[in-house]
Amino acid sequence: MSDGFSYELHATDGKARTGVIRTPRGDIRTPAFMPVGTAGTVKAMMPESVRETGADILLGNTYHLMLRPGAERVARLGGLHRFMNWDRPILTDSGGFQVMSLSDLRKLTEEGVTFRSHVDGSKHHLSPETSMEIQRLLGSDIVMCFDECPALPATEEQVAASMRMSMRWAQRSRDAFGDRPGHALFGIQQGGVTPALREESARALTEIGFDGYAIGGLAVGEGQEAMFGVLDYAPGMLPVDKPRYLMGVGKPADIVGAVARGVDMMDCVLPSRSGRTGQAFTRRGVVNIKNARHADDARPLDEACTCPACRSYSRAYLHHVFRAGEMISGMLLTWHNLHYFQQIMAGMRAAIAEGRFADWQADFDRGQAQGDIDPI
Ligand SMILES: [Zn+2]
Repeated sequence: MSDGFSYELHATDGKARTGVIRTPRGDIRTPAFMPVGTAGTVKAMMPESVRETGADILLGNTYHLMLRPGAERVARLGGLHRFMNWDRPILTDSGGFQVMSLSDLRKLTEEGVTFRSHVDGSKHHLSPETSMEIQRLLGSDIVMCFDECPALPATEEQVAASMRMSMRWAQRSRDAFGDRPGHALFGIQQGGVTPALREESARALTEIGFDGYAIGGLAVGEGQEAMFGVLDYAPGMLPVDKPRYLMGVGKPADIVGAVARGVDMMDCVLPSRSGRTGQAFTRRGVVNIKNARHADDARPLDEACTCPACRSYSRAYLHHVFRAGEMISGMLLTWHNLHYFQQIMAGMRAAIAEGRFADWQADFDRGQAQGDIDPI
């Protein structure tokens, strides 16, 4: 464990865990949801507002930031925290996943991947070594290993070969990361939906030794049932005394199901992206604010929610500004969604600490199944 970075497990209830990750930039209460600040901003939100929703940590995307404005420039300007005015912890991904999903003309070898920027077509190279260097320049508190996730559908042989290369890259990431007190490096378990490959990957990572462990290769379109199938066993293969991070998850029900299976950290663009497309997540499921039923509805989105969108605005107003294409639409719905996601996390943390997680989960499921309030 790097000096200045530690994880304390406070309580478990079933497989669900609550605790705290301590970093020099502040504590991260777990289970934690990390809003995604792709290009140095959580879209439509001021950083102080993101903090007000209850977020302890943000995620930044290495791929986007290395292409624009560039990691060296961010470093010259004092690092990502200062650049984007967020002084709490930041986790950066390795760039690998987005290279595969966003860039053009990729060439993947044992050394790394060469690609052209989707922004301006310029040529770039990412490897375990360059990814560690870029994440260091950004000033990330939690750095992710550079790994590869095969495109689906893939055969078991392809998944195994890809996982083994990712484990060699994990060792190279560890070597390149070096000794950086107060900064953490997380390994990423791969292995698809095959328990033996997940086990092999967990063993390889544990032997190298990391400050935390991510469960990779999920939330890539396999569906909730397949994802939960892997989460039924994968977290248990990872060290109990280190944080476990499920990348790119998810909808509220995915998050709750992952925590029930022993996951401590998650990130997803869903609350902010959906906020910009008129979709609100609530205790009673999804509300599409663009629907005509809201046009004359003076009630708040959720009368029990304490976010600014629910405290001070009607469904009718939210409907109007969405239809009119006003910027405040994305701002208010993103705030509500991030607030609701953080309320879910806070609710789970308290329930796990008090040994009533199953009851909390049953309540959550009931609310989601109930559906939105009746139209006026
Ligand atoms: Zn709200």
